[in-house]
Amino acid sequence: MAERLAGKPVVEKIAEELGSRIGSLAERGVECGLALLRIGERPDDLSYERTAVKRAESLGIKLRRTVLEDGASQDEIEAAIDGINRDASAHGCLMFRPLPGDIDEQAVCDTLKTEKDIDGISSAALAAVFMDRDFGFAPCTAAACMRMLDFYGIPLEGAHVVVVGRSLVIGKPIAMMLLRRNATVTLCHSRTKDLASTMRAADIVVCATGRARMFGPDCFSPGQTVLDVGINFDDDGNLCGDVDFDAVEPIVGAITPVPGGVGSVTTSVLMAHAVEAAERSVGV
Ligand code: NDP
Repeated sequence: MAERLAGKPVVEKIAEELGSRIGSLAERGVECGLALLRIGERPDDLSYERTAVKRAESLGIKLRRTVLEDGASQDEIEAAIDGINRDASAHGCLMFRPLPGDIDEQAVCDTLKTEKDIDGISSAALAAVFMDRDFGFAPCTAAACMRMLDFYGIPLEGAHVVVVGRSLVIGKPIAMMLLRRNATVTLCHSRTKDLASTMRAADIVVCATGRARMFGPDCFSPGQTVLDVGINFDDDGNLCGDVDFDAVEPIVGAITPVPGGVGSVTTSVLMAHAVEAAERSVGV
């Protein structure tokens, strides 16, 4: 049976690290602040917001919430971001996406100052990830995958990693972050031929497609590490990943569960980025 790579111990480790860093900031008179920007009342956004609020409050990170009506214009959303850019008490910003309606989302993302873009949504932050530079922050989910791999001591140097999914939020940035760590990366997508055999040949497989339990035993081989990033609901309304966990767990070496895997670490990484943004703001 595979080792279960649970998110909880990773979350606890991050909370422990952040506790002392937030304490050091407080000694310098800096209260770490996180701005949340939500447009409308999408259930997904509200659920993520509840988790983020709970995590921030448990760590002592101050929240500043901005909520705009569904139907807010491009100018109104960009003005809200401008307000966050000018608010010295907000060190980082989480904007819930996708934005509703026909908003030019990338233009909105690019309005956010790079130093406050703790979820890697701006072109500048993404460019930094692609150029192996450290001036911005990587998208939190991609960074959470890296934290999971490091926490559980999965070797990356020279490992063959197959990433399934090529979005700018997960697939592409994690591919770049893995390359930077000297993994050999194959990036797959919906047009990839012989996907199952490509996945079987990997040392590590990262699934980020948003297709409920799409990957079964034919896609995996013994000894592999599997990170399941998907957050999906099956036909019965149960939360599940992209991997058919029950069928795949007996085959592979290690696997993240859904729920309780990568998703739970993502919010902690967001908090870690907020703290780092606060530290950078005072030159720590
Ligand atoms: P996108 O829809 O933007 O991208 C999905 C990717 O999967 C695309 O590149 C697509 O290929 C590929 N894909 C779709 N179907 C298949 C298939 N049958 N075979 C191979 N590849 C396929 O999704 P996101 O990247 O935004 O999110 C992916 C998943 O991650 C979702 O379940 C989402 O809920 C979850 N998520 C989890 C987070 C966490 O913290 N754990 C945070 C954010 C998202 P193509 O490009 O060819 O269309």
